[in-house]
Amino acid sequence: MVNSSRGPERLVRAGQWLIALLFAYFLIQVGAALIADLPLLSSQPQLEQYIDQPRISALQAELEPLQSRQQALQEQADRLRERQQQASQAYAREKASFDNWRSTRSVTEQSEQNPEVIARARQLDGLLQQQQQLSGEQEQLEAQQRTLRASLAPPQQQLEQLQAEARARWQRALQRAELRIFGIRLLFVGPLLGLALWQFRRFRGSDQWPFVSGFLLFGLFAFFVELVPYLPSFGAYIRYGVGALLTFLAGRALIRWLNAYLARKQQEQVAPQQERQRTIRYEKALQALGRNQCPSCERNLPRRDGVLPNYCMHCGLQLQHDCSQCGFHHYACFPYCPSCGHPAAAAGAPEQPA
Ligand SMILES: [Zn+2]
Ligand SMILES: [Zn+2]
Repeated sequence: MVNSSRGPERLVRAGQWLIALLFAYFLIQVGAALIADLPLLSSQPQLEQYIDQPRISALQAELEPLQSRQQALQEQADRLRERQQQASQAYAREKASFDNWRSTRSVTEQSEQNPEVIARARQLDGLLQQQQQLSGEQEQLEAQQRTLRASLAPPQQQLEQLQAEARARWQRALQRAELRIFGIRLLFVGPLLGLALWQFRRFRGSDQWPFVSGFLLFGLFAFFVELVPYLPSFGAYIRYGVGALLTFLAGRALIRWLNAYLARKQQEQVAPQQERQRTIRYEKALQALGRNQCPSCERNLPRRDGVLPNYCMHCGLQLQHDCSQCGFHHYACFPYCPSCGHPAAAAGAPEQPA
């Protein structure tokens, strides 16, 4: 493999890339600082700004005593339930003990009119009455709770409606803020990216390219990091619409480039052999040689016994020729014969007669 680049040249190339990256890095930092300092981009509407506070406070003041009354009733109901439970347990215990006592008694003395039996039956009756009284209390309490709930409902609904309205206004304000932020960012990033792309097209091959590339990197970074994430979504229409548009533009650019490339290659192929040799850059020819590719059509070339064919079988470019001075067979793109140093015709030097 023949490496085409000279040592310092490689270093300078790497240095130029480093300069391009550093240039882009510093520009990105400046841009980020600028955007962070824009007060319009950092302020976001807050929900509190959209709440009708006086009306909400009035409703809350109206609701407060009702709610504390509701809580008190709830506590009362809880206590009542506990008492009911205790009463029913006491009755069940008493009843079981009375039944046991009576069954043992009836075996020994058959007397239903015994005063002790009557006393215990009365006690049971008392417990039952207590339970009934507690049930009555529970019904009253429930009625009170129902009335209270009915008077609580209207102000509660009003409050909920007010809050929902405030949230809706806040959402609209958020959307407007999102749009405004995007517009401001677009105002900065759009022209920047346009300028970067224009410069890149215009000065790509010039010796200013590290700056042009650095600026393009900066523009692309600004576009993808400072603009794209802030695209308003509107139910994802815009985001995906922009994605589709960008994909379409990129695809069209690719197709155009491919067509231009094919047309250029076709034009190159019909030119005379020496003309073709002249148009191929020396560095590019050496790189292609290293990769076993034709320097003109860039298709792969099979080596036979490690030797390149004399002509490209794909496009007909002459790859090897004989030195006009010493007859040494060598790669046709070399500007000088590797054997005798005679300048070759293909490099632009006129072929000298042997
Ligand atoms: Zn070829
Ligand atoms: Zn020679």
